[in-house]
Amino acid sequence: MSQRDFDLIVIGAGSGGVRAARVAANHGARVAIAEEFRVGGTCVIRGCVPKKLYVLASRFRDAFDDATGFGWSVEPPRFDWSRLVAAKEKEITRLEGLYAQNLEKAGVELIRQRAVVEDGATVRFADGDTARTKTILIATGGAPVMEPRIPGIELGISSNEIFDLPAFPKRLLVIGAGYIAVEFAGVFGRLGSETHMAFRAELPLRGFDLDLRKRLAAAMIQDGVTLHAAAPPIALEKTSGGLRAHLANGAEIEVDVALAATGRRPATAGLGLEQAGARLRENGAVIVDARARSSAPSIHAVGDVTDRINLTPVAIREGQAFADRLFGGRDVEVDYDSVPSAVFSTPEIGTVGLTEEEATQRFAEVAVFATA
Ligand code: NDP
Repeated sequence: MSQRDFDLIVIGAGSGGVRAARVAANHGARVAIAEEFRVGGTCVIRGCVPKKLYVLASRFRDAFDDATGFGWSVEPPRFDWSRLVAAKEKEITRLEGLYAQNLEKAGVELIRQRAVVEDGATVRFADGDTARTKTILIATGGAPVMEPRIPGIELGISSNEIFDLPAFPKRLLVIGAGYIAVEFAGVFGRLGSETHMAFRAELPLRGFDLDLRKRLAAAMIQDGVTLHAAAPPIALEKTSGGLRAHLANGAEIEVDVALAATGRRPATAGLGLEQAGARLRENGAVIVDARARSSAPSIHAVGDVTDRINLTPVAIREGQAFADRLFGGRDVEVDYDSVPSAVFSTPEIGTVGLTEEEATQRFAEVAVFATA
């Protein structure tokens, strides 16, 4: 068993962790980063990046439709799911390599193993090795939840599995109507699946502006997605040809695949944080202050594992600020006001600041400018 010493050990090589590790090393710190899965984290490996590739793939349908009007002759287009999956895999493998290379260039030691916190100054790796460190940064992100807890939910899949389905689903049920549900329902609907989205609200994207939600619902219907509003599934069962979903409004639908897109939960199980003195919220999120400090003096956390604003650019900003503060002598804090977000539906939705409904509650007079 060997023993090593670092200034910083980062657990989790996703967007926030990689940025923090690189910047800290560039500031002269001795840094290691541990990753049990693939370098790049959710965004690069099974989130934003592959999702955007699939969104782009789904939009060729319109381009083929339009092409003839612009003088092109197009053979009847054919879509091959396995070729898309292979192309996606090639691209994320390339990006994963770049992330690892950049860590190496910065002088960060990449440890491709699960790591857990033994105490505030010791990290233990899966092979039994330990390392000593002055600071630990938890950047383990989150994982999809399989909700709602209805009979048969285990027959469904999560957004982790949807990217690599062995066969293209001819019929797909998406459960939920948040970011992931809307994006994947759009992708598969446009790629040619008979797509259903079943959710408990009246419109998709709860919390967004009402006019955006209505326009998105109309665009999805136009794309052939069947919206089952106020009708979440109450049971899933296996049939000889696939799955049958029973919806709260009494409807039954037959599909090949059911995707639970009903939120994500911070990945802290078994990390040893509570024994080391870091307090967690009930859902497992590491409780941190504005400077990413947990209740254990040497343990910090950034990104989705803190369950504040769960967006890649926020995790990157938090990782950068953490490293600049601790190792770069800069007194910086992250400004969480007016964080923009984008939903990669077709068409896309971009928002920043208050929704109209929030503004109306807060101010006596609200001016609304709209363009078609
Ligand atoms: P969201 O929180 O966006 O949406 C969850 C959806 O699941 C909602 O429609 C919610 O319904 C529904 N839901 C939750 N629990 C239940 C339940 N028990 N029964 C029925 N329905 C339920 O989560 P996502 O999984 O879509 O995404 C996770 C996070 O990942 C996002 O919050 C976002 O931070 C990030 N993300 C960002 C993207 C981007 O920036 N483009 C893309 C993808 C993910 P209700 O509205 O009724 O509560």
